[in-house]
Amino acid sequence: MFDIQSIVSSRNDRSLFIAGPCSAESREQVFATAEQLSKEAEISLFRCGVWKPRSSPHSFEGCGTQALQWLQEVQCNFELPVCIEIAVPQHVEAALKYDIRHFWIGARTTVNPFMVQALADAVKGTNVSILVKNPISPDLNLWIGAFERLAKAGIHKIAAVHRGFSTYEHSIYRNNPLWNIPIEFKRLHPEIPMICDPSHMAGKKEYIFEIAQKSLYLDFEGLMIEVHPSPEKALSDKKQQLTPVEWHQLIDRLSVPNQAETQDIQLKSSRNLIDELDKQLCALLAKRLETVEKIAYYKKEKNMSLLQINRWQEVMNHVLQQSEHWHINKNFMKKLMEVLHEETIRIQEEIINDKK
Ligand code: PEP
Ligand code: MN
Repeated sequence: MFDIQSIVSSRNDRSLFIAGPCSAESREQVFATAEQLSKEAEISLFRCGVWKPRSSPHSFEGCGTQALQWLQEVQCNFELPVCIEIAVPQHVEAALKYDIRHFWIGARTTVNPFMVQALADAVKGTNVSILVKNPISPDLNLWIGAFERLAKAGIHKIAAVHRGFSTYEHSIYRNNPLWNIPIEFKRLHPEIPMICDPSHMAGKKEYIFEIAQKSLYLDFEGLMIEVHPSPEKALSDKKQQLTPVEWHQLIDRLSVPNQAETQDIQLKSSRNLIDELDKQLCALLAKRLETVEKIAYYKKEKNMSLLQINRWQEVMNHVLQQSEHWHINKNFMKKLMEVLHEETIRIQEEIINDKK
């Protein structure tokens, strides 16, 4: 568990608010950001990239070790614990020399189990805290695997950071949120705090508020947001960084919900109804899939092809008409039918290949 109270004295005892520039660019820039942010009591950690994972070697790749000195001074002068990205064991070794003991593993590193293991070995026996960003690809097991490696190394001050995924499917954001993945993570590991990084998900500052607010409504335990004194001059991620003033405004605007009151009678009865409806949905689905099997045996006997595109078109049109009638979102219904159809094909394939 990421023990928030043990590392910070925060006014807000529930949410972990992390802010700071994408990259350390100069001593002045780091100090200006830290000074303006430290006036805000809500901030728990000062984030700052020292070594930057960039696609092109011609891009700014961070100031490296010299930035560690600036960050050590930030910790002393502003009493603000610093958190940096580590990607190779040498980063850990260097950071510890400058008394930096809060780290995050970036999306491009979480994706590689060899690197995560090397980092877990490097922090073994230390008292550091580690945030693990989701891997670039939408792979929940890979994300969870990183925590398993850290647990084996005896690291227990941990948290997950959701920053969105690279997907084939288009998203208006720089990285597709695929909210179902962090939600499933929370279901499997409710003991690991989940933080949202709306900056890297949004890619543009205009979207940061809506993403941050949504994550808080989804009961995320904190936010990691990029803040730069002059974002237009930033050497990396300039479109998504907020000014310190914008950060303060954002925090003021956000509503942090209370834990759901599970004793509430109205909520309880609605939840009972949902459970009952889900039971009925399962029974209906079972009936539909049984009918699918019957059709498969018929197709097999008549040597018919498994997919009849006209029929599938007809089914989809019919359901979309119904969804309009019942005021159900068409996109949702379409996705649901596609998943159902995939399962239909799987079942029919099994029957046609005599595997059932
Ligand atoms: C960052 O936080 O600066 C960063 C590089 O993030 P990500 O790993 O999410 O791309
Ligand atoms: Mn960045």
